[in-house]
Amino acid sequence: MTETATPAAAAPVPAPSPFGLFDLHVLRVERVTPVMIRVVFGGPDLARMATAGRDQRIKLFLPSPGQPAPRLPDASDSGWYATWQSYDPATRGIMRTYTIRTLDAAAGELTVDFAAHGDEGPASRWALRAAPGDRAGVFAPVTAENQAFEFRPPAGTDWILLAADPSALPAVANILAQLPPSVPVRAWIEVPSTDDRQELGAGPDTDITWLTATGSTPEALRTAALPEGTPYAWVAGESTTVKAIRRHLVQERGFDRTRVQFSGYWRRGTSEDGLQETGEAA
Ligand SMILES: Cc1cc2nc3c(=O)[nH]c(=O)nc-3n(C[C@H](O)[C@H](O)[C@H](O)COP(=O)(O)OP(=O)(O)OC[C@H]3O[C@@H](n4cnc5c(N)ncnc54)[C@H](O)[C@@H]3O)c2cc1C
Repeated sequence: MTETATPAAAAPVPAPSPFGLFDLHVLRVERVTPVMIRVVFGGPDLARMATAGRDQRIKLFLPSPGQPAPRLPDASDSGWYATWQSYDPATRGIMRTYTIRTLDAAAGELTVDFAAHGDEGPASRWALRAAPGDRAGVFAPVTAENQAFEFRPPAGTDWILLAADPSALPAVANILAQLPPSVPVRAWIEVPSTDDRQELGAGPDTDITWLTATGSTPEALRTAALPEGTPYAWVAGESTTVKAIRRHLVQERGFDRTRVQFSGYWRRGTSEDGLQETGEAA
């Protein structure tokens, strides 16, 4: 009897990652409103980037003080995140979470809107001084179907409630732009001053309330008349305010908790590094 050699089991082919690491540089900077700095990035590889729109999140990497570019592993390193974590935090690229405001992959342009909040945070400080040629890195999707967005109204949604502050205004702008115009929307957006209001794509039954007092959304909601029917709520911004809004919607308004998507985009007194350390960052 002859032994037939069994072919070696084919090694499993790893699924291609839906995300990639991109090398970017600033093309243009525009002050959209007093609080909002719009940075348009270019990069050799941007034709590969994709977005689901809505609240599509990305990880930006900015240079540490004194560095000309963010210190990052090579994009071809499949374990690049672990490699980045192993670098000295004093010199490695500074990681922060942002939203794709617009992506024009064909033109090779990625736009990110930064809410300016002074020099305390490295990302805000960087955006306030950003100029053409400045270097950055970004970890972003390469397929529109990816897990890094949360605005997913379930079937049977009759109307949408949005609540945001400047950090979540880019996401709200995208969400409104993508919703069918016939969907009723009620939005509450906190901004520092009336000059910070933006023109947002709005259907005939979209009602946007601009608030200029920080943390005032829960109070404003308490007296608001809401539409009939089954809602879906998307709430993002400062963590304490976000939690208060969710509590109001679920406990006082009887929203089904599975129909309230809430994300603390930042927390007063804590940097994103602090949120990463406690596992609370997105
Ligand atoms: C999914 C997701 C998407 C996001 N998209 C955007 C976006 O498109 N645009 C955007 O501007 N932000 C966005 N953010 C919020 C942004 O990641 C945080 O504001 C981040 O902390 C900014 O980093 P920093 O280096 O400026 O400040 P950090 O170093 O993280 O914090 C320094 C200090 O500044 C305070 N701080 C942080 N952010 C703010 C703020 N917005 N206003 C006032 N004080 C603040 C902190 O409480 C802390 O005391 C997003 C966050 C998440 C989770």
